[in-house]
Amino acid sequence: MAGEQTWDVVVVGFGIAGGCAAVEAAAAGASVLVLERAAVPGGTTAMAGGHFYLGGGTVVQRATGHQDTPDDMYAYLMAVTPEPEADKIRAYADGSAAHCDWLEGLGFEFERSYYPHKAVIQPQTQGLMYTGNEKVWPFRDLARPAPRGHKVPVPGETGGASLVIDLLARRADDLGVEVWYETRATDLVSDSGRVRGVRWRSFGGNGVVLAGSTILATGGFVMNAQMVAEHVPQLAEKPFILGTPYDDGTGIRLGMSAGGQTLHMDQAFITAPFYPPATLLTGIVVNRDGKRFVAEDSYHSRTSAFVLDQPGSSAFLIVDSVHIALPEIPLVPFIDGWETVAEMERALGIPSGNLAATLAAYNAAAARGEDPDFHKHPDWLEPQGTGPWGAFDLTLGKATYAGFTLGGLRCTVDGQVQRADGSVVAGLYAAGACASNIAQDSKGYSSGTQLGEGSFFGRRAGRHAAGQAQYRRSATTPW
Ligand SMILES: Cc1cc2nc3c(=O)[nH]c(=O)nc-3n(C[C@H](O)[C@H](O)[C@H](O)COP(=O)(O)OP(=O)(O)OC[C@H]3O[C@@H](n4cnc5c(N)ncnc54)[C@H](O)[C@@H]3O)c2cc1C
Repeated sequence: MAGEQTWDVVVVGFGIAGGCAAVEAAAAGASVLVLERAAVPGGTTAMAGGHFYLGGGTVVQRATGHQDTPDDMYAYLMAVTPEPEADKIRAYADGSAAHCDWLEGLGFEFERSYYPHKAVIQPQTQGLMYTGNEKVWPFRDLARPAPRGHKVPVPGETGGASLVIDLLARRADDLGVEVWYETRATDLVSDSGRVRGVRWRSFGGNGVVLAGSTILATGGFVMNAQMVAEHVPQLAEKPFILGTPYDDGTGIRLGMSAGGQTLHMDQAFITAPFYPPATLLTGIVVNRDGKRFVAEDSYHSRTSAFVLDQPGSSAFLIVDSVHIALPEIPLVPFIDGWETVAEMERALGIPSGNLAATLAAYNAAAARGEDPDFHKHPDWLEPQGTGPWGAFDLTLGKATYAGFTLGGLRCTVDGQVQRADGSVVAGLYAAGACASNIAQDSKGYSSGTQLGEGSFFGRRAGRHAAGQAQYRRSATTPW
């Protein structure tokens, strides 16, 4: 593998996005080479629990008796996304059920079962649960809620998605996709504004591959300290970062070197879930002024993002003696318990009377099944009136926050990398965590969006890239 070689499509990175892009490009008849820096496929995808955010009436939703339509999924994603790209959300919602079938066609089945509890991820192999803010106000009034978190049938919280990687690698092999492992793309080869391939380096040497289309699928940038400090300083210090060492932003930087624009680089998924158990959602979350600021039944990364907006990135979860329990995932430390609210205010440094007033107002409304301030769902509205009261520390640096980056290259619905003026960089595509598609921020994130959009838009990029490369080949246009 030396010198200069020519392919229809070269894909950089074999995670969920690169694997799906490669398989679709090959299925469309293209000759495909994947360059993968690691010795095995998988990247950060192989660490993922295995939630895919899918809906619009998937086979799993139907089998478990949940109604969903592409229009409801579209309305939800449009509402929860700060700067939604309507064409992408439309395509994702319309194509989601068929995409679920395609994923299963790789050789596995999402279990036809529903996990009804509030949790971070299904504890066993249950196929479906709520993994976003669908039942949280105001979203529940804007789109009919439906559970869309499809989990691969592997128990546990991490690593489940490696099942899909193994199947993708097998499918790629069957389709004749060539994969060069331990081979890193270092630069793009460009000519007259068109990307014509990549330069690579491995232990054994280096070289150039020329291609009609080049797809960047190298993951995010959470492991690049300089990029993190520049774009997402909230990830720079206290939180744990989630990813592999190769989440170093290479793809984003390669795309920028060809003129590509980046979007939402200042946003990250950051979270420190305090549930399960769900009983803790009946408590109230207050800042150090003793004021509530978020509906406590929000998806955990939404609650966390609001915590980080508070003075000192500081907040407490307050629960009375009837509802208190220890978090099943020990990320949020228990501070102490107090016989009176006045003692609790003193211990937490909350101005005297503030927490008492917040609790009194909350309890009075909750007793009526109402939450006029934050519209917490009635399922979780229970007065916190029975002392002693306990407090958990949600403060950044006390609670264990973890996160990864969400920003990436601007691209079309087919993954073509775009410049700031909206024009496309000919021959260049991006997919997965190095691209900006559906997921934009922690407040609107639903678990499963990264694997869902990475696989869905990876496939679209693969198809489009194959079509373009083959057209140029048949037109005998030199690359
Ligand atoms: C613990 C954990 C759990 C998660 N759980 C979920 C979940 O359940 N659902 C969900 O939707 N999201 C989840 N995520 C997020 C999700 O895993 C990632 O966002 C997603 O896997 C990114 O996929 P990708 O294909 O873009 O990148 P990756 O899977 O990271 O693949 C990129 C590949 O590119 C390779 N590469 C990098 N640079 C180069 C180069 N220069 N040349 C060649 N190859 C290169 C890397 O080695 C890697 O194999 C989780 C993340 C973590 C860390």
